[in-house]
Amino acid sequence: MEAKQSFYRKLPKVELHAHLNGSISQSTIYKLIKYHKDKNKTDFVLPEAWQVSIAKGEQRSLEDCFDIFKLIHKLVDDTNAVKMVTRDVVQEFAEDGVRYLEIRTTPRANTQNGMSKTAYIDAVLAGVGEALSGDSDIIVKLLLSIDRRQSFQDAINTVELASQYRDKSPPHCSVVGVDLSGDPSAGDIPELVPALTQAKKNGLKLALHVAEIVNNKDTESLLALLPDRIGHGTYLLPSKGGCQQFVDMVQQHKIPIEMCLTSNVKGRTVAGYLDHHFKYWYDANHPISVCTDDKGVFASDLSDEYSIVAQTFGLSNEEVWTLSEAAIDQCFASDTTKQQLKRIWKDNKPCSSN
Ligand SMILES: [Zn+2]
Repeated sequence: MEAKQSFYRKLPKVELHAHLNGSISQSTIYKLIKYHKDKNKTDFVLPEAWQVSIAKGEQRSLEDCFDIFKLIHKLVDDTNAVKMVTRDVVQEFAEDGVRYLEIRTTPRANTQNGMSKTAYIDAVLAGVGEALSGDSDIIVKLLLSIDRRQSFQDAINTVELASQYRDKSPPHCSVVGVDLSGDPSAGDIPELVPALTQAKKNGLKLALHVAEIVNNKDTESLLALLPDRIGHGTYLLPSKGGCQQFVDMVQQHKIPIEMCLTSNVKGRTVAGYLDHHFKYWYDANHPISVCTDDKGVFASDLSDEYSIVAQTFGLSNEEVWTLSEAAIDQCFASDTTKQQLKRIWKDNKPCSSN
């Protein structure tokens, strides 16, 4: 069993769907609580670590999950905290054997301490830089997130920031695209679509949360943008409440889907691992990647997710290896970086993976 677990740790991995604030581990949450206590922060009651992480075997509603994010945002409210959590998150992914990581985060301003959205992004980039200055062997890219509840003005501002940072990113971490996320039952998608269209025109990649819940109107509007990747896609299939037209479109355009199994099970948008839509798309040989979504909140790292996929759907080590390697082509990275990653997979492949 131990040898089996070490296979997943050693497996080189690509993580394409990781929200910065949801990826904060419990040990970093303790550090944040101490940091705020040391600062004598008194304007809100500091949460206990268990309030911001869902333990193994436990489930919460999607609504409760979004309440957890609100608490975390209160803890990550200045540039020191942003830098600290970014550094820790990147290091933890690297320790878990992730060789290529795309982090996504919503630039947040805090008028109380003067943190602007650009200061927030700069702090994230500085945190990545600190993580990479050690012996972390990982390539990191950044996506800026648009929250579904935001106005068009906020969304277009994020698109402009992403375009500016894409052009002036430091060499260690470039901004490559835009994500659309947040509470799937909230927001006005038709209002946000022009901002996402502009992002595409600016040459930014689009990774959109699509069909997290049944909302075929939103799904139709978002698929019409032909995103570069889909997050979740839980309710695309007709058997789940979606429709065949969605499935045909996603297959025709080979739009990769980011699969976050534990997130969906713990957030109760999927009844159990065996019911997960992973199986449909895997069997259809569609481009998919295994991802964590929020490794801190859902207490499951990427090695755990590969192990769960293999156990649930009976994948051999060889098949798990192929699945992890196939995600390289779904990265928002240059062809040179993809070739570099493929060499890493080739050089590390065990003689017999089974
Ligand atoms: Zn997500």
